Amino acid sequence: MTRRAAITGYPVAHSRSPLIHGYWLKRHGLDGTYERIAVEPETAKAFYRGFAGSGLIGCNVTVPHKEVAAACCDTLDDAAQAMGAANTLWLGDGGRLIGANTDGLGFLGNLDQHAPGWAGRCDTALVLGAGGAARAIVWALASRGVEKVLVANRTLSKAEDLANRFASVATAVSWDYLADILGRSDLVVNTTSLGMDGQPPLDLDLSPLPVDALVTDIVYAPLITPLLQAARDRGNPTVDGLGMLLHQAVPGFERWFGVRPEVDDALRDLILADLGVSS
Ligand code: NAP
Repeated sequence: MTRRAAITGYPVAHSRSPLIHGYWLKRHGLDGTYERIAVEPETAKAFYRGFAGSGLIGCNVTVPHKEVAAACCDTLDDAAQAMGAANTLWLGDGGRLIGANTDGLGFLGNLDQHAPGWAGRCDTALVLGAGGAARAIVWALASRGVEKVLVANRTLSKAEDLANRFASVATAVSWDYLADILGRSDLVVNTTSLGMDGQPPLDLDLSPLPVDALVTDIVYAPLITPLLQAARDRGNPTVDGLGMLLHQAVPGFERWFGVRPEVDDALRDLILADLGVSS
């Protein structure tokens, strides 16, 4: 029987997930589909609670439903539990709904692929932003044993809330002291929407940053954000954000369709072409 999975959220028209999973389904010759299902906010709770009757074997969850989906699951993996948000769901024994959060794994997979050994060189990481993506990234850094994660955000109270959630490694820091903090950072991660097409650039003077510090941006449109360009210009190693999107999809595909797919250059080129971005 054809296995059906989907991206669920509201809206879902912009999602690249169908392209990613469609590529892997074709590549592995599997009898499966991956659809888009727009779930209106008023119906989200009923949709995830009634998931066993949906005809799907699992789904991804995107904004704004990651928290409600987690609340509707019978079991959560460690990441989803720590974040209070799930982006990957599947049905277990007896129709029990199981939730995972793979955003942090996507972030790690991207750095592992493009900056192998990075974690061994990272004692202190600076995370810019404190939204949903930052939550996943702080979890990911903590899971890799990064000793100190400094979280700076325009709204300091949100950085404090995030740091409190991961209090064993994370500390909130004021945006006003970034120059000092940059000087002792081994990794800088932009998780704000600044630098994205249509948004102002992230205005950050990188001069205090050590030249061997790794700089990564999870914004992937444009692929090379002004932050990454500025880091490259002064000789810092950089990793763009597209790989996070691709790698976060791997665990769901494996769970639903039984094959662990690879994030290869052809997939990357396919998504870049869809985004209208050159590599
Ligand atoms: P979010 O929850 O809405 O958080 C947005 C963050 O950006 C907040 O920290 C916000 O600060 C900050 N911000 C927004 N406008 C700002 C401005 N003008 N000046 C300073 N800070 C500003 O969004 P999210 O889900 O975390 O996503 C953030 C970005 O990451 C988006 O561009 C998204 O496309 C990208 N993303 C990429 C991937 C990937 O796979 N590569 C995955 C997830 C997200 P305040 O708290 O002060 O508002």
